[in-house]
Amino acid sequence: MSNEFTDVLKVNLENTMERIQAACERAGRDPKEVTLIAVSKTKPAEMIEACLELGQIDFGENYPQELKEKIAILPDTVRWHMIGHLQRNKVKYIAEKAAMIHSVDSLELAKTIQKEAIKHDRVIDVLIEVNVAEEESKSGVRTDEVLPLVREIAALDHVHICGLMTIAPFVDDPEENRPVFRTLRQLSVDIAKENIDNISMSALSMGMTNDYEVAIKEGATMVRIGTGIFGARDYSNK
Ligand SMILES: *Cc1c(COP(=O)(O)O)cnc(C)c1O
Repeated sequence: MSNEFTDVLKVNLENTMERIQAACERAGRDPKEVTLIAVSKTKPAEMIEACLELGQIDFGENYPQELKEKIAILPDTVRWHMIGHLQRNKVKYIAEKAAMIHSVDSLELAKTIQKEAIKHDRVIDVLIEVNVAEEESKSGVRTDEVLPLVREIAALDHVHICGLMTIAPFVDDPEENRPVFRTLRQLSVDIAKENIDNISMSALSMGMTNDYEVAIKEGATMVRIGTGIFGARDYSNK
């Protein structure tokens, strides 16, 4: 339903779509190859409702408890993406409804997702989170750990690896992240060549408000944009 947030969200969504489209044109890519994930963490359900009515379907959340609460009150038409670090004991909150989990970084986590997926009689799409820049503060596996992990997770029949995800460093000039995105893309090409059963490398989740145009140039198929759509976040009551 339209509400007090609709006008500003309409402008922000349109601007973002235009910039995605322009970035695709510059890269010689079809805009249909790039999915916009609106990152709604810390933002009220009314904002998500307004976006839904404006045609935005994919939303990203970081905190399992918050995602669980939003799933309970928002329509089933939302495609929920779990993009934040996920502890094994929280998988149960999101396993029934998450369309994709972007943050798988261990076999143990994948095994828990498998167990929960079986309970709900579904196969859960996941991405492997890669800490390309090897930042201490970030989760994700190192580039050299990805292929062995993919091989192990491929054996889990209720977990389907669709590709790779990375969170690039916070930088002033988005150009600085180009090598990070290029590395993730090359890694996905190399893994695809291994022809591993039950996995795909078609999805590349990379690029946020500050650097998504560079990420699109380097092959992103999913961009995760929070601030550019919903405005700055307030963590004071988190
Ligand atoms: C918060 C967050 C985003 C969105 O960040 P913005 O800079 O606000 O666009 C994207 N991806 C992940 C994993 C996040 O945690």
